[in-house]
Amino acid sequence: MSDTTEIRQSIIDACLEMNASGLNQGTAGNISIRVEDGMLITPSGIAYNQMTPDDIVHVRADGSYGNNQVPSSEWRFHLACLEARSDANAVVHNHAHHSTCVGILNHPIPAIHYMVAAGGGYDIPVIDYATYGTPELATLVREGIAQRKAILMRHHGMIATGATLAQAMWLAVEVETLARMYLEVLQITDTPPCLPDAEIDVVLKKFESYGLREKN
Ligand SMILES: [Zn+2]
Repeated sequence: MSDTTEIRQSIIDACLEMNASGLNQGTAGNISIRVEDGMLITPSGIAYNQMTPDDIVHVRADGSYGNNQVPSSEWRFHLACLEARSDANAVVHNHAHHSTCVGILNHPIPAIHYMVAAGGGYDIPVIDYATYGTPELATLVREGIAQRKAILMRHHGMIATGATLAQAMWLAVEVETLARMYLEVLQITDTPPCLPDAEIDVVLKKFESYGLREKN
C-alpha cells in the first residue's frame, strides 16, 4: 500500500482540481491510473473532499477487486481504455458541461481549431449511448478510444487519456475548451469553417516530434 500512496493521492488531487476548475460537478467524474496488474481508480460514492488514499481501489486486470471496497461504477470502461491504448497510463472521465452538450448533439468536434489534433486525429468523435456502468458501454468506449486519445459520449460526458495523469487532465481541459468553442461557433453557422486534413497532418507530426508539454 505505502508505495502507491503518492499515486493514490494524485488521483484525489486531480478529482478536487476537476471540480474546482468547473470541469466536473459532484462525484460524476472518475479517474484511474495504470499500475502493475491493473489500475488504481476512484471509489464509488465517496465525496472527493472526504477521500483518503486508502479509499482508492485497486482493480486487477481481470476485473477483480477487494471485498470491502467498491470502485467507481465505470471501472469497466477505465480498464477498457487502458487495454485499448498502450500509450495511456491515466484515464480521466467527467461530465464537463460543454463536452456533454456536444455529445448530446452527437456532433463530433471537427477541425475548427488545430488543437483538435491533441486528440490524435482529425476530430473528437462521439460514441453511441449505452447505460452507465454496463459492459455494453465499456465495449463502445473501447472501440472509440482505440481511435483517439479523447472521446465524447452521447448523453453522458467525455473521456481523456494520457501518458501521465497531468497529460490526461490537460487533454480533458483542451477538449472542454474545444467543445465550448464549437457550441459558440454553431450559434453563428451550421457549417463552421474547418482546417483541411493536410494541415491537421502537419500539426499531428509536430505534436509527435516535439511532444506535448510535460507537466510532470
Ligand atoms: Zn459518467
